[in-house]
Amino acid sequence: MREVTVIGSGVMGKGIAYACAVSGFRVTLNDLNEEILSRAREEIENLMDSSYHAGFLEQEAYETAKRNLVYETDLPAAAEKADLVIEAVLENIELKIAVFRQLDAVCKPETVLATNTSTMSPTEIGAYTSRPDKVVAMHFFNPVQKMKLIEVVKGLETSDETVAFIREIATALKKEAVEVNEFPGFVTSRMNCLIGNEAMNLLMEGVASAADIDKAMKLGLNHPMGPLELADLVGLDTRLRNMEYLHKTLGEKYRPCPLLVNYVKAGRLGKKSGKGFYEYE
Ligand code: NAD
Repeated sequence: MREVTVIGSGVMGKGIAYACAVSGFRVTLNDLNEEILSRAREEIENLMDSSYHAGFLEQEAYETAKRNLVYETDLPAAAEKADLVIEAVLENIELKIAVFRQLDAVCKPETVLATNTSTMSPTEIGAYTSRPDKVVAMHFFNPVQKMKLIEVVKGLETSDETVAFIREIATALKKEAVEVNEFPGFVTSRMNCLIGNEAMNLLMEGVASAADIDKAMKLGLNHPMGPLELADLVGLDTRLRNMEYLHKTLGEKYRPCPLLVNYVKAGRLGKKSGKGFYEYE
């Protein structure tokens, strides 16, 4: 298998396209318009250049990746030849279902359709396609080029062959896979969203500053990043959508912190907008 299509060129789509391209896959990256895609292209090429110059990428992988990564705004044209499609659009179930219906209509019957959702149900998404056995969640982590894990989430109808196929892709990407039976938030988002939300509640209650909350978690509990820094990296809009879905499906424990809601209203989306719990250049 050679052809991977990535739908959505935001924080995650860019990283997934990069990781697949440097591992030798032919990759087509799709988004809504040329402007968004050319921004993504610039960022991906900068990442390729800096990884190459820093010695993380061999010359051959660097040149192959540049050649093998193409950008396409038309979804049917982007997906019709794919062996694997990885969807990374916003965390919104209606949008994901609409994208999967379109993909199901244009992709080859054997194409596996994966969602990079952090919380949502591959069973529900798969039910809107004619191939629920080939629909699976393939949950990457941010930044994709550095993070080792892929959480493979098996929906009710996902076949063992599909799970094995995604595991093979994970190995080709030099990542480790864990297999999870579907439940809202899987393993990682269910834990991580709760920790992040509690950090936001601590900040809102004036218990400590953002910097001290993060420092306490890093130096006291050995977390590599503080929960507020991490939320800024994820994107506060994305984190709020995750919390809203978990609140709806898992209950009160996941009620989004009002501070998070307010930050998103103000357009403070974290690193991608220049301001979240911290300020960025
Ligand atoms: P993002 O907002 O950075 O990017 C989403 C992209 O999807 C945008 O570029 C948008 O233009 C594009 N898009 C929207 N509708 C589209 C459509 N119909 N067709 C093609 N492109 C479309 O979001 P993100 O942070 O990259 O998150 C994407 C997914 O990955 C979400 O499901 C999220 O929960 C999940 N995820 C995010 C993180 C993270 O750290 N940000 C980590 C793991 C998983």
